[in-house]
Amino acid sequence: MLSLVVMFLLWIKVKGLDYVIVHQRWIFVCLFLLPLSVVFDVYYYVRAWLIFKMCSAPKQHDQRVRDIQRQVREWRKEGRKAFMCTGRPGWLTVSLRVGKYKKTHKNIMINMMDILEVDTDRQVVRVEPLANMGQVTALLTSIGWTLPVLPELDDLTVGGLVMGTGIESSSHIYGLFQHICVAYELVLADGSLVRCTEMENSDLFHAIPWSCGSLGFLVAAEIKIVPAKPWVKLHYEPVRGLENICKRFTEASENKQNTFVEGLQYSLDSAVIMTGTMTDHAEPDKINRIGLHFKPWFFKHVEGYLKGNRPGVEYIPLRQYYHRHTRSIFWELQDIIPFGNNPLFRWLFGWMVPPKISLLKLTQGETIRRLYEQHHVVQDMLVPMKHLQAAITRFHQDIDVYPLWLCPFLLPPGRGMVHPKGQEEELYVDIGAYGEPKVKHFEAKASTRQLEKFVRDVHGFQMLYADVYMEREEFWEMFDGKLYHRLREELGCKDAFPEVYDKICKSARH
Ligand SMILES: Cc1cc2nc3c(=O)[nH]c(=O)nc-3n(C[C@H](O)[C@H](O)[C@H](O)COP(=O)(O)OP(=O)(O)OC[C@H]3O[C@@H](n4cnc5c(N)ncnc54)[C@H](O)[C@@H]3O)c2cc1C
Repeated sequence: MLSLVVMFLLWIKVKGLDYVIVHQRWIFVCLFLLPLSVVFDVYYYVRAWLIFKMCSAPKQHDQRVRDIQRQVREWRKEGRKAFMCTGRPGWLTVSLRVGKYKKTHKNIMINMMDILEVDTDRQVVRVEPLANMGQVTALLTSIGWTLPVLPELDDLTVGGLVMGTGIESSSHIYGLFQHICVAYELVLADGSLVRCTEMENSDLFHAIPWSCGSLGFLVAAEIKIVPAKPWVKLHYEPVRGLENICKRFTEASENKQNTFVEGLQYSLDSAVIMTGTMTDHAEPDKINRIGLHFKPWFFKHVEGYLKGNRPGVEYIPLRQYYHRHTRSIFWELQDIIPFGNNPLFRWLFGWMVPPKISLLKLTQGETIRRLYEQHHVVQDMLVPMKHLQAAITRFHQDIDVYPLWLCPFLLPPGRGMVHPKGQEEELYVDIGAYGEPKVKHFEAKASTRQLEKFVRDVHGFQMLYADVYMEREEFWEMFDGKLYHRLREELGCKDAFPEVYDKICKSARH
């Protein structure tokens, strides 16, 4: 063993640490990041559990809010020298880019990561902004409740999902994450604490989603909850032919009997469409506990139905269904640990997977960051369902990345940054492309701009965590800025927070 370690260290010395980290990243990830990720997870899990059991979170919450108000007032006393932003380090977020502004703006520390209250009478859960989805499902599903929209990755935070956005395979019924929120509590630029709902400070309530912290600091959110059942009965249907895929997917999304609808598109003309419902009982011979560490990665398991050209039905434990894409970070992990889905690896080390995205970001270095930027796409584009076929064709021509994630959602009319063109609710679809583009002519900026133009033209929206190459005018053509700009003026945000475009545009991020 010792000789192996010595040989390994010698090899690193000969090749250079940079070379090993760039070309054999899996070594670094498996030896260091996986164990470290386990330590992180255990720490945060135990912490959240203890705090909830001791009921200490609600008592400490008010004190923490006062501390944020104090920091904002101090910033005003000091003469408002720079804009403010949250003090959470950029590498800790799920978004792949790190905001440069963290270094130049006044960082307001928002150390709030607890679930404050579950009120089953009003059917709401009140949470702090850094509470994450893994934490929320662990608590809610254990007492028979769930969020109607539960974004898949464990580490996504309530603050990020409210101020950015969030979606899940039940969004064709409930809308985006913002649409299941009933109240936000915010500390504004003048240090005051306000609560906003559909009825109270209603303009602010509508303007907050997608504003990326440029109207105030979120300190708590109240989110709807619904009763949960222990199993998801999931149908897998392989479909061939692009026209047929779009037709079947639209039908499945319009059918409100389906609690969950999701599509994985494996090539221009092949996909598996999944529809699911929650149930109390499972047929024992059809149970598949997909979340167990030795089980195949979910997108590979689904591909099996396409390769076998057969439909199927399975019963999956609810929480394992929600986090079905967590272990393989959708399909991103295959580029980092190429043998990660090998049965031997899964049996031996699968329980440590996935490495934390934050640790991957922290340790990626400039070379990997540049390589990723030029040879890797991570984009979610939200387009009206009626343009699905044109959109997939466009994705194919401009980037050619598969699988594509297809997630339908209902977009109600509104006056915030994101709503349909007309006054009617409209069915949309999130097309997620994560991976290495296969088109020869791929050029990150030009290709993404082409996609962005298509999305603007069909009145779609780009998720703001991704690389956004639009110019400011193009950005405000895509998003409705009327209410947003008025509130920035009225609430004194213009010298307190950067405009949302200046936080998310390409030049604002590493
Ligand atoms: C690899 C990857 C996988 C993803 N998977 C999913 C998925 O499964 N489902 C899904 O719906 N989405 C997914 N997304 C997109 C994700 O929803 C957005 O990136 C989301 O905004 C990120 O949440 P976060 O917790 O990392 O937020 P952050 O990046 O921390 O925050 C997002 C924005 O909100 C602001 N903000 C956060 N907290 C506060 C606060 N308290 N006060 C004021 N402003 C605040 C931040 O300043 C920032 O501008 C994924 C993205 C990536 C990169």
